[in-house]
Amino acid sequence: MENNIQKTENVAIIGTPCHLVAADKIDNFSDCLGDTTLDLKIGLFCMENFSYSYMKKLLEKYDVDMKDVNECRVEKNYMWFYLTEDRLVKIPLKEAKSCMRKNCQICMDFTSEMSDISVGSVGSPEGWSTVIVRTEKGLKLLENAEKDNYIITKPLSDSGLQIIEKLGNKKKKENKKEIMKREHIGRPVLYRRHIPQDIFEEEVRYCQFEDLKGDVIDVGSCVLCGACLLACPEDIITIEDRKPQIKGKCPEGCNSCYITCPRTYIPEKESNIDADKKPLGNYLKIVSAQAPMIKGQDGGVATALLNYALTEKTVDQVLVVDKNRDHPWKPDAKITNNVADVLSASGTKYSATPIFKSLKSYKNSRTRETH
Ligand SMILES: Cc1cc2nc3c(=O)[nH]c(=O)nc-3n(C[C@H](O)[C@H](O)[C@H](O)COP(=O)(O)OP(=O)(O)OC[C@H]3O[C@@H](n4cnc5c(N)ncnc54)[C@H](O)[C@@H]3O)c2cc1C
Ligand code: SF4
Ligand code: SF4
Ligand code: SF4
Repeated sequence: MENNIQKTENVAIIGTPCHLVAADKIDNFSDCLGDTTLDLKIGLFCMENFSYSYMKKLLEKYDVDMKDVNECRVEKNYMWFYLTEDRLVKIPLKEAKSCMRKNCQICMDFTSEMSDISVGSVGSPEGWSTVIVRTEKGLKLLENAEKDNYIITKPLSDSGLQIIEKLGNKKKKENKKEIMKREHIGRPVLYRRHIPQDIFEEEVRYCQFEDLKGDVIDVGSCVLCGACLLACPEDIITIEDRKPQIKGKCPEGCNSCYITCPRTYIPEKESNIDADKKPLGNYLKIVSAQAPMIKGQDGGVATALLNYALTEKTVDQVLVVDKNRDHPWKPDAKITNNVADVLSASGTKYSATPIFKSLKSYKNSRTRETH
């Protein structure tokens, strides 16, 4: 099977922990999926995500139109919606959780354990971000960004660390229960079944889109990341709104979508089994940080690091998630080399988005340009 993902330019991605697992698989299976372009991975903390359409309906119940929302935050057991004309609506998180995506109930990663650098809000004072550095590449980026005055950092407080660890443990503990429950009723959670490389190869050899549908999509495990669409050499996977679908026939021998999906098996050597026992995974350094010139969701650090990586030419493009122009607060992933676009994408959109779909569109457009 011809490799599908071809290296063009170096790309930085930012995403939720599940996006980062897909990115790791794309990297690790380059022998069958093609050379990766994902050169810098910035992960976000994430406790849960919401369905855009359910959230829109819930807000209508509170007489709120999405287009009037200026800012959205999850804090102190509420979802806070800051509206135009200084109105504020808060919805208990318990109620908002009715809009939570089912796949988030089996997610074991709070702080993007597969990233170079993870950024979140919890643990640091208001207006600051918590930054977890996991790789040498991440460390170099953070240190250089601070040296060149893109960000400032300070030690994370002991109480801050305790809060993050508590939440990391809570997510792992509660969701492990749900995983066991699903396993018990015959809905296996494949990505938690750690298997050796040779068994992995055997298990996935003949798995095509129909298997992905049965094992992931139809059983409420799909995180809507779009990695299957990116990997498909036939371009027959579509994701319009809710879930991946197929338009066409799979050629014999192809299993790219199944291999790439973050919710199918992950071979032992790629998985983070040891990190599972640690609330925040493995890391080198943890600090509070702020980008004083940027208005972000928290400290604006995610935006500052992406723009620093672009300006310093560490990467050629970044994959960010902005708001959709026609559907306010609907996340819209785009790939750009323009710092103004990265600034515009700051702020959290609390719904799932197939970020790898835009990488595919970008690659297809580059291929057309060069032919
Ligand atoms: C679904 C979701 C749930 C989260 N839950 C938590 C939590 O429980 N606890 C916690 O401490 N932090 C959580 N965060 C992270 C937090 O909201 C901030 O994104 C983080 O602190 C970075 O802040 P910042 O000011 O540095 O980022 P900014 O400078 O504002 O940049 C934010 C970046 O996030 C990207 N982004 C926005 N929405 C999405 C999305 N839906 N998918 C992928 N990328 C996106 C944008 O491209 C932008 O580059 C969550 C984020 C998301 C997307
Ligand atoms: S599966 Fe849900 S909770 Fe887990 S990282 Fe993805 S969006 Fe967040
Ligand atoms: S949908 Fe079919 S052709 Fe596309 S990657 Fe999956 S198995 Fe291959
Ligand atoms: S089925 Fe596709 S969109 Fe869903 S989690 Fe797997 S790779 Fe991502």
